[in-house]
Amino acid sequence: MSATVLVVEDEPSIQELIATSIQHAGHRVLRADSAEEAEQLVSETLPDLVLLDWMLPGIGGIQYARRLRGAERTKRLPIIMLTARGEEHDKLAGLEAGADDYLTKPFSPRELQARIKAVLRRRTPQMTEDCVEVEGLRVDPVSHRVHGNGQAIDLGPTEFRLLHFFMTHAERVHSRAQLLDQVWGDHVFVEERTVDVHIRRLRASLELTLHDRLIQTVRGSGYRFSPQPE
Ligand code: CA
Repeated sequence: MSATVLVVEDEPSIQELIATSIQHAGHRVLRADSAEEAEQLVSETLPDLVLLDWMLPGIGGIQYARRLRGAERTKRLPIIMLTARGEEHDKLAGLEAGADDYLTKPFSPRELQARIKAVLRRRTPQMTEDCVEVEGLRVDPVSHRVHGNGQAIDLGPTEFRLLHFFMTHAERVHSRAQLLDQVWGDHVFVEERTVDVHIRRLRASLELTLHDRLIQTVRGSGYRFSPQPE
């Protein structure tokens, strides 16, 4: 499944190289020359992953990583630090600031793609291509097919993403704003009741095989996916 990757890098040639490589891997790229610019982009669209250069003009990479970790909306956003240094204490400083991984320049496009894949798999299971199955409800993110007890279920693209997100994040309550960020990738321009509309559609499609009971409304908080009775 393709992800939106934000590249924060002030060196134009490196930024270009990284962006090309990421696009080649099938991901969408957002680019920023500085942390300040990145902050602006993130306020509009929440990416799935940030590639963050260590040495930036203005707010530095470490400082920006700390900011991302400190804010409610971005605290779980995966971060890979890009550094020209290979010193052990620098790596530690990056990881302590909240980075999930780091890459030492220069790195090959293959290395970059492997790290991106590993971090996405670890942090955002809905980005991986593994099939998920709960109580006979099976979702295949590669073919976009959904089956309930072996019976094909037809879902729209948003309902599909919503269901896949729920199934990879079961037993947790998600607020409408969180669902907009995680499933729509943007909570700024979409109204929260849009979530309710798509939940209704998803439940209607799942009624056929009685899997609609897995999507539970948590009064005053949001929604939860759970095989346990409410
Ligand atoms: Ca730099």
